[in-house]
Order: sequence, then C-alpha cells, then structure tokens
Amino acid sequence: MSEEMKRTGKRRIGLFGGTFNPIHLGHLRGAEEIREAFRLDGIIFIPSAIPPHKAMEEIIDARHRLEMVRLAIASNPYFSISDIELSRSGKSYTIDTLRHFRERCADSLFFILGGDAFVEIETWKDFQNLFTLCHFIVMARPGFQKTPLANRLPGALSSAFQPDVEAMTWVHSSGHRLVFKEISFLDISSTKVRELIERGESVRYLIPPETETYIHQHGLYRRREGMGDFSAQKG
Ligand code: ATP
Repeated sequence: MSEEMKRTGKRRIGLFGGTFNPIHLGHLRGAEEIREAFRLDGIIFIPSAIPPHKAMEEIIDARHRLEMVRLAIASNPYFSISDIELSRSGKSYTIDTLRHFRERCADSLFFILGGDAFVEIETWKDFQNLFTLCHFIVMARPGFQKTPLANRLPGALSSAFQPDVEAMTWVHSSGHRLVFKEISFLDISSTKVRELIERGESVRYLIPPETETYIHQHGLYRRREGMGDFSAQKG
C-alpha cells in the first residue's frame, strides 16, 4: 500500500495504454520499473481497439491482443487489464479513456507512455485537455534527461506547464505533473516481434513464454494465405 493510500485512502493507479500487438518484455519491464519508482498501487493495461496512429492491416483481432496481455500479466498481482477501449465502438482515443476513469474513481491516476509516443502527443485528440485529467509519466531512454525534449516541451504545450527544477518535473496549470522517467530501455518492439515470427525466427526472451505459447497455438502473425487469425481488426 502506498503512503498516499494510507494517508488519504486514495490509490495511485497507473494506466498503460497500447496496441500490445503483441505485448512484449519492453512493455512489462517498463511498467514494473514505473510501478516501483512511483510507488503505484497497481497498473491497468488498456489494449486499444483501433489506434488512430497505426496501420490497421497489421493489427490482429482485439480478443487475441487482450488474451495475450491477460496471460502475460497473470503472475503479477499489481497488474490488471481493462477492456474499456475494446468495448467502445470506433477509434480508441486516450482522452475518452482518461475521462472514463476520472469520472468513475477518486484515485490518483498516472497515464504511462513511451517517449516515442510522447513526441507525437500534439497529434492526439484534444491533447491540451489530457493533462487536466491525470498525471503523465513518460518512460524515457537512458540519457533522455540530457535531450532537448526533457528541457523544453513541444510548443503547444509549453505555455500550460511550469518547470519544477528540483523535482525534475513539469507542473500543469491543473496541478498534474508530467514526468520523464528513465527506465532500463529494452530495444524491443511489437513490430520486431511480428517480423521475427513472420520469418519463422525465435522470439524467446523478447516476449513472455505464455504469450509465445498462445501465439503458436493460434498461428498468429504468420503470413499465410487465408489465415483468419491474421485478419485486420474489425472494431
Ligand atoms: P509497434 O512496434 O507495433 O509500433 P510498440 O512496441 O511500440 O508497437 P505499443 O503497444 O504501441 O508497442 O506500445 C504501447 C506503449 O508502450 C507506447 O507508449 C510505447 O511508447 C511504449 N513502449 C513500447 N515498447 C517499449 C519499450 N521497449 N520500452 C519502453 N516503452 C515501450
């Protein structure tokens, strides 16, 4: 239990959105390090239905992605999963997901994303309002604090934030914080995993064994004519 929870009864909850196509050890290790560093009481993984920023052809059925996340996190009592984005019709927008959680719980919420996703944040729907809803934690590559992005925010955001130099964070006018947190960056991506499987090569030690077994059982990501399992997400 975090100190905050003991003091206020409020939990500190991380929300980790992603396509998870499939989930890999980069996601899991990053989430675990963020959980410890920010003393979170739990992290909710939120697979997205139709991500606005990704090519749909390569995204497999949402039920498979959900199940792979479920299997991958089963042994971690701090991790859980939400199908909120999958149960909504249409595209997945983070602003809608954050509003959903904000309206339903009084907990302190921390949205977790990678540095590569953060650099595109100005293209996200209603991005200015994201920061009025919760704190943001950006998982950054080692050495990131020395890069310009950590010292200067993208133009459209800079007027809404003040630096807190001591805490090495940015403080939004709403009071929420934007934190860049270095993690031991594992150079693993779902794209790399999919490419290896497609070529019939090993993905051992890149994804959890449970996920690997599931992928093989269902014949996922293998490019073969007529493979129903490789079909694009239908929403
Ligand atoms: P793809 O290769 O298909 O684009 P991905 O590996 O980036 O996928 P996503 O599900 O899109 O995986 O990522 C969800 C979130 O996790 C994003 O915010 C992304 O920046 C972050 N992320 C992905 N891979 C890593 C990694 N190796 N280390 C830290 N964060 C990561």
